[in-house]
Amino acid sequence: MNKKIILSGMRPTGKLHIGHFTGALENWVALQGEYLNYHLIADYHTLTTSLDTSMVFEDSVEMAIDWIACGINPDKSPVFRQSQIKQHTELFLILSMLITKARLEKNPTLKEQIRDMNLQSVTYGHLGYPVLQAADILLYKGELVPVGEDQVPHVEITRQIAGVFNERYTGINGKLIFPVPEPMITKFARLPGLDGKAKMSKSLDNTILISDNECNIKAKIKKAYTDPNKLRKGDKGNPDICLVYTYHKKFNEPELSQIRDGCASGTLGCFDCKMNVASKISDYFLPVREKRLILENNKNHVLEILIEGEKKARVIAENTMKEVRESMKLG
Ligand code: ATP
Ligand code: MG
Repeated sequence: MNKKIILSGMRPTGKLHIGHFTGALENWVALQGEYLNYHLIADYHTLTTSLDTSMVFEDSVEMAIDWIACGINPDKSPVFRQSQIKQHTELFLILSMLITKARLEKNPTLKEQIRDMNLQSVTYGHLGYPVLQAADILLYKGELVPVGEDQVPHVEITRQIAGVFNERYTGINGKLIFPVPEPMITKFARLPGLDGKAKMSKSLDNTILISDNECNIKAKIKKAYTDPNKLRKGDKGNPDICLVYTYHKKFNEPELSQIRDGCASGTLGCFDCKMNVASKISDYFLPVREKRLILENNKNHVLEILIEGEKKARVIAENTMKEVRESMKLG
């Protein structure tokens, strides 16, 4: 039986943080093998929030390194840059006719970005971000899209667009061209940032990077926001409002009840609690950092991986576009 298809990507805006891992990458790796995964380096998407493209190429390579170091096997799961597959822009143009401006303006993720980044205005391309994302998913006939919570509204828009297309245009014998994809979220689909904000995010500068060493992680977590009513060891804390406790939930499950009791009773101080989780996070990503180092020293090999992935992706993308053009009688 044919494997179901996963399509998911990320924007190369710098090295990945642990929110990217818990929200998406971890799921990609877990599902690899059972599904056929395609992983997109969404370089065009970086233009939505910054026109500075000077680092996009380097960041794309760094991101591929993070993915592979975390367990993506590029032989099984093609990894490719969006800008190298021209069919993305072609399908984007067609799909942009199938959704209204009003619907895109309602997108809660866009509203969140406007608020968080304090944007004074939004470009046409930024408004259309979910439409390009729909093209990314549908070109590979993605059926499952493992993403963090903020991306779920975008998958909803993809579902709507796929439905509109399928209703109007079909292949031979009424064959539907596009599957209607499902989002898939993890338990930690919105990992909080070190400053207490709901989302760990590069643009909010509240991140722990996958590539951070133990020393960096400790220094960062030392400053993390905790329960403001727990000022010193001995004070009773509320773990449910503490982001450090959320990190324990993910990275230190065996000690969870001990941490909870210690915080709530006051016997555990925030400093010890923070240093404990910092070492657990560091241990968790130690093998990833080791693999990263090898790949960092062989960036040409990583570039070859991308070029191979792009060859595979291009074939799939062109097949889909042929079906789309035929179904629309465009030649
Ligand atoms: P940043 O704001 O740090 O640049 P981003 O949201 O712009 O991150 P994307 O490339 O848009 O990054 O997202 C990559 C994937 O990682 C998406 O599936 C997104 O939902 C997920 N993700 C990003 N941040 C988090 C987080 N804090 N917790 C869980 N998932 C996240
Ligand atoms: Mg990003």
